[in-house]
Amino acid sequence: MAKMINKVRLIKFIRLYPLLAIAILLIAYLLGAFSDQSDPIIDQQYLITALYLFIVVVPVAVIIAFLIIGKSSDNLFKQVKSDEIKFANQDPFNLPKVKMGGYKLALLTNRPPEFTGLTGDTYQADAAALCNLNPNHTPPVAQCECGFYAYKDKGEARFEASINPGAFLIAVDLYGVGFEYERGWRSESQVVKALYLPKRCMRCRVLTPKVFVTTFKLGYGTSSWWQWQVRCGICSSSFKSEDKLSFNQLAQQLKVEIR
Ligand SMILES: [Zn+2]
Ligand SMILES: [Zn+2]
Repeated sequence: MAKMINKVRLIKFIRLYPLLAIAILLIAYLLGAFSDQSDPIIDQQYLITALYLFIVVVPVAVIIAFLIIGKSSDNLFKQVKSDEIKFANQDPFNLPKVKMGGYKLALLTNRPPEFTGLTGDTYQADAAALCNLNPNHTPPVAQCECGFYAYKDKGEARFEASINPGAFLIAVDLYGVGFEYERGWRSESQVVKALYLPKRCMRCRVLTPKVFVTTFKLGYGTSSWWQWQVRCGICSSSFKSEDKLSFNQLAQQLKVEIR
């Protein structure tokens, strides 16, 4: 809070600086800094040196003040962040006692199909989280990002789905060690309960979807993959039968209910 007040004061001072500079030039003029008066009240050289100092020293001081205030507010931010982490870690046994369940987005990739998070990790319908950042972690670790995430609110996940075309909305139950956040959960293991079919074909966005089809997506280097979408009869007609799965077939292969 004090940092904020300092910043406001500094900004107010900067706004005043031109006025202050003009006032000082005026005083210097009145004192004879710019005249050829033979007997000035104050020695001309002294006045000019003082003016130069004012023009150089004040801006430098302001820049230094900005750097100091900026750094201290960075520190404040860091402190707030580490407090959050401490809070999450305060008592590792004081975990949510409510049932953890929610909604999230997944792509369907590979053959046979698997769930793929938007971060690129693939998982089965019933899976324990792995940590890609530290092999010693059994997720979730408070200070790390590892674990399965889900939103509490279906509406929020649906909104995410609307800005991630190609992703499916899924419902999950979460188990094991878990952390509760305002909008969601992060847990040790996850069971996908249901996959929600979009109401429209994922290609034409007009007709009702009838079948899953897979297309090969070319990425950089080795990152090419098969991706599954639902399409209407027309948008799926050019696919070979081995690149199609009925809703039931996909449900069986993923071991998940399709809604
Ligand atoms: Zn981790
Ligand atoms: Zn279509």
